This record gives sequence, structure tokens and C-alpha cells, in this order.
Amino acid sequence: MTREDTYKHKGLRHQMVETLRGKGISDEAVLKAMDTVPRHWFIGSALDAYAYEDRALKIDCEQTISRPSTVAAQSQLLDFRPGMRVLEIGTGSGYQTAVLCAMGAKVFTIERQKGLFEQTRKLLRETGYRAQCFLGDGYQGLAGSYDRIIVTCGAPEIPETLMQQLKVGGIMVIPLGEGEQEMLRITKQGESREEWHVEHCGTYSFVPMLDGKQMR
Ligand code: SAH
Repeated sequence: MTREDTYKHKGLRHQMVETLRGKGISDEAVLKAMDTVPRHWFIGSALDAYAYEDRALKIDCEQTISRPSTVAAQSQLLDFRPGMRVLEIGTGSGYQTAVLCAMGAKVFTIERQKGLFEQTRKLLRETGYRAQCFLGDGYQGLAGSYDRIIVTCGAPEIPETLMQQLKVGGIMVIPLGEGEQEMLRITKQGESREEWHVEHCGTYSFVPMLDGKQMR
């Protein structure tokens, strides 16, 4: 399937990036990636016209694609360099995944809903974003160790397993709380909890992080 990226889309995308600058996003690597990735490919065509507004949109399986300013904020907080291993929990539409890929991360991403996982894995493949997609429960993470972990659903608590899979010196960005969440940036300075440096980075509203896989 060919996907279009017209001058109109590109123009709207430039405007979106300027809006993000205005909202305090200053990491040029993030802004450049978001100027490049066609967000409209990651939402249903019925919503195409809204693709470059700073708002969350409904995608399949009753999930949402995070608003551009949230994707930008989380990507900026991750503070990673190209080539780093980044684990994402909550693939959803794949837009955040694509932005991380465009920034040069080696991305591993987990989605718990089978339908969404299959659809997004196919989309990322077809559009050339080379993330490794997994169907699974983000609470279990993925065997291996990661430089960065980004959680894109609201977690009721900090998942221990994920903290174990984070390298020492690594950073996890995670919205914590039920209903509304507080965005935390946790720098793992050592293995014990006392060595986790936690920064509070604002209030957000995400869909909840749920247990287990959903096989449809
Ligand atoms: N990064 C996504 C955000 C999608 S919304 C985007 O840019 O579109 C969050 C996603 O997290 C949903 O698709 C939801 O199904 C998924 N999710 C919720 N709990 C999860 C879990 N335990 N493991 C993996 N994915 C989960």
C-alpha cells in the first residue's frame, strides 16, 4: 500500500513543530524527527484532518494515540543518543515508536492487544520504521537490558521487572497514577531503590496500563 505525504501534510507538520517549540520543546532531535514522521499514517483516514493538531485521537481497540506534545515531552525526557536500546511499553498506533526510530534508537516495543499489535507491526514494516514489535504484557517487559524505557500508558505503580531490565545509568520515563498521572523520569543510579533518582515532570492523562495479553 502506498501512503501519501503531500505538501499540505508537510506544511501542517511544520506548523505542529512550531507549536511544540512554543510549548517548550527544545530538543532539536525530537523536533526534527517529528517534522519528518507523517503522523497521519498512524491514525484512521477519517481523522486525517486532525493529524497535526495537538490533540489525542481515538485509534482502534478503544485506545488513543498520544497528543504530539506528550510524544515530544516523553521523547525529550528520555534524553537518549542514537544507537541506544529503547524499550517502549504500549505500541498503540506506533507513532511514538516511529519517532524514536527516526531519532536513531534501536526500538523494542510491546503491545498487549493482539489486533493492535498485528496492525501496527504491519504498518511500521510497510513504512520502513525498523522497530521490533512484540505481543505481550508490558509489566513483564522483555528479556534483555535497555538504556531507556518509555511507558506510554498510565501505570498504577513502578513495575519492578522493568526497573530490573533498565541498565544502571539508564532512564525510565513513566506516567504514574490512576485517572491522571504524574510523569516521572527515573534515573537508575544503582540496583537498590534508594539509588533511583526520581524527577516529577508534569501531569498527564493516559489510558491505563492493564495486566496480561488480550488475544483479539
Ligand atoms: N505510544 C502509543 C500510545 C498508545 S495508548 C501511541 O503513540 O499511539 C497506550 C497503549 O498501551 C494502548 O495501545 C494499550 O493497549 C497499551 N497497553 C496498556 N497496558 C499495556 C501493557 N501492560 N503492556 C503493553 N501494552 C499495554
